[in-house]
Amino acid sequence: MYILSMMQPLNHPTISTDEAVRPTHVEVDLNRLRENYQAIRRHVAPAKIMPILKANAYGHGMVRIARAMEELGTDYIGVAVLEEGILIRKAGVRLPILVLGGIVGNQVPHFLKHGLTITASSLEKLRQVNEAADAMGVTARVHLKIDTGMERIGVHYYSAQSFLETSLKCRHVQVEGIFSHFAGSDSADLTYARLQLERFLEVLHFFEKRGIPAPPLRHMANSGAILQMPEARLDLVRPGILLFGVYPTREVPRSVAVKPVLSWKSRVVYYKIIKPGHPVGYGSTWKSDHPVRAVTVPVGYGDGYFRSMSHHVHVLIRGRKYPVVGTISMDQIVVNIESDSAFNDDEVILIGESGRESVHCEDLAEWAGTIPYEVLTNINTRVPRIYKQ
Ligand SMILES: *Cc1c(COP(=O)(O)O)cnc(C)c1O
Repeated sequence: MYILSMMQPLNHPTISTDEAVRPTHVEVDLNRLRENYQAIRRHVAPAKIMPILKANAYGHGMVRIARAMEELGTDYIGVAVLEEGILIRKAGVRLPILVLGGIVGNQVPHFLKHGLTITASSLEKLRQVNEAADAMGVTARVHLKIDTGMERIGVHYYSAQSFLETSLKCRHVQVEGIFSHFAGSDSADLTYARLQLERFLEVLHFFEKRGIPAPPLRHMANSGAILQMPEARLDLVRPGILLFGVYPTREVPRSVAVKPVLSWKSRVVYYKIIKPGHPVGYGSTWKSDHPVRAVTVPVGYGDGYFRSMSHHVHVLIRGRKYPVVGTISMDQIVVNIESDSAFNDDEVILIGESGRESVHCEDLAEWAGTIPYEVLTNINTRVPRIYKQ
């Protein structure tokens, strides 16, 4: 019951695409997604690729993106939590799926039932997996998680030896992979990232010293490392945000050319003239000293259009930039078009391109005081996703 109720919000967005008549919507360009994927593939070959599709595929719609990845013949899919893996399985995707996050014991049978690969992040969890697999008469597919300096989950690099020893003895577990995660592969200073990689490689020496083959999938590289640490590619890389055409930070070299997959659009639903001195919106935080033309657009923080962007953000209408004025409401914003013209039904670009202008999710991140990852993952299920082939 718990799993079922957890799955509802992911599985059944409030507004499904066949009812997508709401003017506010997200457009996902599957062509660009494919181009980005191929660009990453060429860049990292012969390493394999595990696209990371957690958090509704960074807001792009997890199941649809998983299917696109399967069509592209990707090697593996990565997600953060069990329910995400189950949803992708239930959609009929047969690719191997690694759940990257930490688990609790009673989740293990669900992993096994749905053929999902488990992250073993401690000795105790490894034993739990082994026992559950034994009880169910199956072999569990596992990747071992080594903590090289993130201090989230995983066995510390300095105590990994007994963890690896134990993994060799678990008869109901197939250790297919071993991985770690960078805390700062996307910054200009790679000192700590290099130290983390060194620690991971040292842990991997265990297998050489024992004269046994290492697990076939050794992996550590996220988008930042794919872009600027070729030595971290190992057997497989785990791109998330880069796949969606967004660079993780402004500092990283753009060594793989990718383009944004997601646009966020709406339409003008109201036009009026605002008199001088007449304030706009909650808290009456903005007014003009001269008459202005303004339009209302049906999007707000209830869709994930951060309220903290108020007084900084602009949108594009008819290829021109205009500021949002007053505070952002839950469902509506007001845009000042000064003395220009705009009409009901005109397209409004919140993220995307129009004429020579563009608004990137990096811009929204800056206005909201956050990172592009949070902008993408916050566009919620009230906003229908429309897929462009
Ligand atoms: C989210 C995540 C990634 C992908 O990170 P990006 O910076 O989006 O490429 C890779 N590995 C793990 C373990 C993650 O949690």
